[in-house]
Amino acid sequence: MSEQFERLSRLPLRDDLRGKHPYGAPQLDVPILLNVNENTYGVPDDVRQAIVDAVSREVGGLNRYPDREFSDLRSNLARYLGHGLTPDNLWAANGSNEVLQHLLQAFGGPGRSAIGFPPTYSMYPLLASSTGTRYIPGEGNESFTLGAEDAARQVHDSGANVVFLCSPNNPTGTALGLDVVEAVYEASGKANAIVIVDEAYAEFAHSDTVSALTLLKGRERLVVSRTMSKAFAMAGARLGYLASAPEVADALRLVRLPYHLSAITQAAANAALTHSTQLLANVEDIKTQRDRIVESLRALGLTPAPSDANFVLFGGLEDPQGIWQGLLEAGVLIRDVGIPGHLRVTAGTETETTVFLDSLSALLGKTVS
Ligand SMILES: *Cc1c(COP(=O)(O)O)cnc(C)c1O
Repeated sequence: MSEQFERLSRLPLRDDLRGKHPYGAPQLDVPILLNVNENTYGVPDDVRQAIVDAVSREVGGLNRYPDREFSDLRSNLARYLGHGLTPDNLWAANGSNEVLQHLLQAFGGPGRSAIGFPPTYSMYPLLASSTGTRYIPGEGNESFTLGAEDAARQVHDSGANVVFLCSPNNPTGTALGLDVVEAVYEASGKANAIVIVDEAYAEFAHSDTVSALTLLKGRERLVVSRTMSKAFAMAGARLGYLASAPEVADALRLVRLPYHLSAITQAAANAALTHSTQLLANVEDIKTQRDRIVESLRALGLTPAPSDANFVLFGGLEDPQGIWQGLLEAGVLIRDVGIPGHLRVTAGTETETTVFLDSLSALLGKTVS
């Protein structure tokens, strides 16, 4: 590895990228993968066939560039989201990571800054860095919660041009109250900032958690980003999207690559959205397993954070590294997100969750009640 770095350092790499490491959770060949918050249920058979049919209809026409405006996809996404949104309010890209990159390309960049509130999604600083945007880590607190007044003050004082709010937040799983979004939006008015609410896990939220989609009307700097990677069980298809005022989408047209969404991606996503009910059928099961994990970890004397997502962050571990390794040896891969004393686990199927809980309690020398 160091030899490779040595060779890399001879290339005319941008100064700000020198010494940086690429993003990447370990991709290990383990039977039970609960490390990157995927939907561990496969794509149901009938949806699988619909996607294959839709993609195969495109193959003969692959000599032509795809619909640059992905009009059908924007219509399907608007219909799925509801809230009175129309295709003009929608934008999409290859994963919500690319959507976030488009936002930083358009609204961040050299001489500008973005603020996020750690512990939060580890891609925010990396996307900021790759777009030449200065990243400002906001101050969190011990309980991983973000209060409206506190967040608003930090956003105001930072003068950031882009604000990242993540709800439910990765890696804590906790959703933000809409009062936080409203207060942050108000406070970002002076800097005329774009406020992004990353709702990658929205479909897993408890029924009394309200989406920031309800706040879009009348707030032209507010953006709600979503993905088909989690609840839709389509991480491999790479499709993320956002809802915003139409002007925001127009700004993103200035920075996207020509024809950035392939005909195959568009066809697969359209077929999936047409079958969203079947695809989302497992979400309730996953939520049940998520709640079961929280309860069981509490019974084991650990401290799981309340979760509105398909994963649980838990603390109270004396030797998280040892537990992570022990679980790996039992065939279960979870995630060390770098918070001392904590690990994060994705809610899998009932069977996967049982193996995780049994293995963990064995490692802790306890039994799950
Ligand atoms: C998984 C995740 C995403 C989704 O990324 P994709 O590029 O759409 O796969 C976005 N935001 C957060 C916080 C995530 O955890």
